[in-house]
Amino acid sequence: MAQNSSRMPGRHFLHIPGPSPLPDRILRAMDTPIIDHRGPEFQKLAKRVLEGIKTIFKTTNPVIIYTATGTGAWEAALVNTLSPGDRMLMVETGQFATLWKRMADSLGLRPEFIPTDWRIGVEPAAIEEALRKDKAHEIKAVCFLHNETATGCLSPVAEIRKAIDAAGHPALLMVDTISSLASADYRHDEWGVDVTIGGAQKGLMLPPGMSFNAISNKALAAAKNSKLPKSFWSWDDMLNMNKIGFFPYTPATQMLHGLAASIDMLHEEGLDNVFARHDRFAEATRHAVRAWGLEILCRDPKFYSPTVTAVLLPNGHDADAFRNLALEQFNISYGTSFGKFAGKYFRIGHLGDINELMLLGALAGTEMALDLAGIPHRKGGVQAAMDYLVAEAAKPARAAAE
Ligand code: PLP
Repeated sequence: MAQNSSRMPGRHFLHIPGPSPLPDRILRAMDTPIIDHRGPEFQKLAKRVLEGIKTIFKTTNPVIIYTATGTGAWEAALVNTLSPGDRMLMVETGQFATLWKRMADSLGLRPEFIPTDWRIGVEPAAIEEALRKDKAHEIKAVCFLHNETATGCLSPVAEIRKAIDAAGHPALLMVDTISSLASADYRHDEWGVDVTIGGAQKGLMLPPGMSFNAISNKALAAAKNSKLPKSFWSWDDMLNMNKIGFFPYTPATQMLHGLAASIDMLHEEGLDNVFARHDRFAEATRHAVRAWGLEILCRDPKFYSPTVTAVLLPNGHDADAFRNLALEQFNISYGTSFGKFAGKYFRIGHLGDINELMLLGALAGTEMALDLAGIPHRKGGVQAAMDYLVAEAAKPARAAAE
């Protein structure tokens, strides 16, 4: 930022791994008069989004929409299906998995936490092994994050489903897709997930404050016997009112207008194209990181995240000071670091409504900030990302010519 100036010209480069940048089209969709949430116009909107959101989770079953952040939808998934003292299986992939586990503890559940070094995703074999040991089928739910936002590791949901089936275990499968939904391929029905937890502020490109539970028939059946106390989070009232296009309480009408626009935008681009774009931008980012000679926190490529890349700084360099410098000088925000790696890495979010040039702007800002901060690195990260993106862009043209 220029010396002695209180104004930062141009747009802020929001490269935290969510909330992601708000598209103007969604902002405009929300910029509309408040309507009666018990009237016919609302009913039309609610029916549209309640059907539309199913296409994003890839389910034909109901999806509950909460006026709450993702943390609320975590709680909803647990309190609607489980009972006090129930055993569960969770995996310590990073900070967000740890927070969800803490919530389970505080609700009086008994989660077993499979440890990792916070540098990988969930190994299906570890789930299978733990479930095989539970001969009495005391474990009532397997809960993990599709994408651990704190570390940039994505876990293989379909393979984990297969591992649960291979163990012949009846536990419910609950998956947090808060930082992967509408950015990475996800199939609630096909992959046999019982509760999928989603959030508004990442792949859906909405402001924070809305979250989701997609629910299987098995989860609906489990809800009938669940004994954990619930009121606001109860699926029953929601499902009954949603059937006729209403909510049991005052819904976040403007967010629902935004959601309608978000669903339209995702289908106009095509979900497969959205996923391919995220994969491409993640790989371009990793090209840059490797060219800089820096280390990616996710240590096994099979777990690489399409939405966020965590970058370790060389020993002795403070990642928080680096983030502050980049913000002050180049108006770019990165995600912070957590836990045993606090202060050692920063996270580049590359999700939501972004394109090649926005990503390259962010990578250029990062390369300049590395230079300015005196962090040892090689030049050429942006060039490596550009070369990769050009090669990718040339592929369809080449394929058409062949
Ligand atoms: N789960 C994941 C994977 C997240 O990334 C986050 C937040 O970033 C949460 C849960 C918590 O969601 P919220 O902050 O919206 O309550």
